[in-house]
Amino acid sequence: MGKIILTGDRPTGRLHIGHYVGSLRRRKELQDKGDYEKFYIEIADAQALTDNYDNPKKIRENVLEVALDYLAVGIDPNKVTIFIQSEVPSLCELTFYYMNLVTLARLERNPTVKEELKLRKFENSIPTGFLTYPISQAADISGFGATIVPVGEDQLPMIEQTREIVRSFNSIYGETLSLPTAVLPENESCLRLPGTDGMAKMSKSLGNCIYLADEPEVIEKKIMSMYTDPNHLRVEDPGKVEGNTVFTYLDVFCKDEDFAKYLPEYKNLDELKDHYRRGGLGDVKIKRFLNNVIQAELEPIRNRRKEWQKRIPEVYEILRKGTEDANKHCLSVTNRVKSAMGINYFEDSSLVDEYVSKYEEEN
Ligand code: ATP
Ligand code: MG
Repeated sequence: MGKIILTGDRPTGRLHIGHYVGSLRRRKELQDKGDYEKFYIEIADAQALTDNYDNPKKIRENVLEVALDYLAVGIDPNKVTIFIQSEVPSLCELTFYYMNLVTLARLERNPTVKEELKLRKFENSIPTGFLTYPISQAADISGFGATIVPVGEDQLPMIEQTREIVRSFNSIYGETLSLPTAVLPENESCLRLPGTDGMAKMSKSLGNCIYLADEPEVIEKKIMSMYTDPNHLRVEDPGKVEGNTVFTYLDVFCKDEDFAKYLPEYKNLDELKDHYRRGGLGDVKIKRFLNNVIQAELEPIRNRRKEWQKRIPEVYEILRKGTEDANKHCLSVTNRVKSAMGINYFEDSSLVDEYVSKYEEEN
């Protein structure tokens, strides 16, 4: 078997530029390289329900929005299988068996889950489903035999948890599951793109996002009201570049050519940063530049999305076909898992033969 790639997103909202730099851009590159046997993208609706169980309408509606975002960034359904998690029931089976391999204390130690629990203010009423979602994610990854998982930094504890489950399963029941490796973005600022409010992470659930589908006026408004250096009050004041979200975004998005196009007084980002640090460079000017750079990046994505928005039945069909394919693949891994655990009673009749002879001998 060649490489199997699997990655996904929770349909809790439209996808944003954090997803783009943290994961989507890498998926497109991997797709174009074509060095894989299978490439799956999961719309993780069941996982999204673990903290949105009281709002299923939101999840249902965003399944299509997320699929449109994939197509908008250039994911090609002929090369990549897009599927809906809840429509692959074997994943629930795997989750149930993996639960035996993980302690409650281990789940409570997961740093991403800890952070998310705090944000969601569950306090003493944590839904069991939410606490155990890393186990279901291990099922998603290992259920397809995935070896490569392109994700943002917040997902590293999930991949680690998956690796532990895979190792534990293989040592108890025999070599059955493949060990996955996370692939992170190369640029450090892409590991966890901050929100437009300067918060540590741009996240659908925090409302601090620039969405891939945002119209140009909306993007401009969001950028012009972005957080910068709070001590850079007058243009002549020296400014800080580190922790200044506008510069973090420039680190991620701008290229030297952008200066020639939109801000020819500077050759590159280092020159711009030096001037900001010295003082004499206003926030409005750098925000205008960032706006030009981001608008240029998002325009083709938005246009492609608009084309697909006219073809919704086709998108629906892509999801249906992808899910059918995913079901086949996952079922074959699940059958291997059940056979390793000896719970494949009707697949393997050796149990009957064994007992026939056992009781024959006794009689
Ligand atoms: P939610 O708030 O509902 O959890 P989210 O914005 O965190 O939504 P997910 O669907 O949980 O999005 O994450 C999908 C993928 O995008 C993951 O691989 C995650 O690491 C990556 N990702 C999400 N937000 C960012 C970000 N701000 N920077 C880099 N990568 C990100
Ligand atoms: Mg998340």
